[in-house]
Amino acid sequence: MKRLRTIRIVVTVLFLAASVAYLVAGSRVSALAVYSERLQVVPSAIASCIGITLFWLAATLVFGRIYCSSVCPIGTIIDGGIFLRRVLRRRRGLSPFRYKHPYKRRYDIAVIYAICLLVGVVAVPLLLEPWQIFRSIVSVVHPSALSADWLRLGVGAGVGVAAGAVSLLLLLFAGLLYGRDYCNFVCPLGAAYALLESRTIYHIEIDPDACSGCLKCEEACPSSCIKVVSRYVDNARCVKCLDCLSVCPDDAIHYQANRNRPRTPLLRKVSGAAGK
Ligand code: SF4
Ligand code: SF4
Ligand code: SF4
Repeated sequence: MKRLRTIRIVVTVLFLAASVAYLVAGSRVSALAVYSERLQVVPSAIASCIGITLFWLAATLVFGRIYCSSVCPIGTIIDGGIFLRRVLRRRRGLSPFRYKHPYKRRYDIAVIYAICLLVGVVAVPLLLEPWQIFRSIVSVVHPSALSADWLRLGVGAGVGVAAGAVSLLLLLFAGLLYGRDYCNFVCPLGAAYALLESRTIYHIEIDPDACSGCLKCEEACPSSCIKVVSRYVDNARCVKCLDCLSVCPDDAIHYQANRNRPRTPLLRKVSGAAGK
């Protein structure tokens, strides 16, 4: 499982590099770099690329939010802030991540976003859609990366570039202070993914019989979605970063297809009696 996490990180870094290269140099850098944009969920859906949209729908239903862990450039930037937090934690004694309850109104922003898209108000999607935010960020070093939609707003390219610089800083700080909370409380795509997660085949699950309750996975989880005391993982918020798997000393948390059943005979008996 540790190897799976390493592969995930390598894929993430490659995608980020390809995305920057594509926005700076276009397809001249490599024909493959074009796919860094084509594989983005919202731009492909808006461009009516049915194949890519169906691909992500199917991939999410099987593997969960792998787009969020490997392909979304905003998720990768936030991961940069999370990495900084881990470095600082060792030196400055920052508190570890802890389980948080899901935000009840997490779908509100997604609904506003969808309405704005439907009625053609582009300002909100420009501020919230991951690929558009990323374009603004790259425009800080290469102004032509800025989306043409910024210019159509009539506010000038300078505002878009400034928004990119501010977004980069805010996302890094969000990762540093709050982990992946942005993905679960702000991003409209994250809210849409949360709706699908209950139907996914692969998910993160704790084996209650093997777990010693050491809390290491809960402390490592940037989505604050592991509650060790009840051996519970809120997979709707899990971005499949696989960080929890790599810290478990008992090999008690897995990315798997089947649901765990308690192996302890007493627990089986109690759950059997409760079902009667
Ligand atoms: S929730 Fe949104 S910002 Fe976060 S990784 Fe997923 S798509 Fe990107
Ligand atoms: S449950 Fe594990 S894989 Fe999911 S977000 Fe938390 S640490 Fe990452
Ligand atoms: S890291 Fe492993 S043993 Fe420790 S609480 Fe999590 S699942 Fe249990």
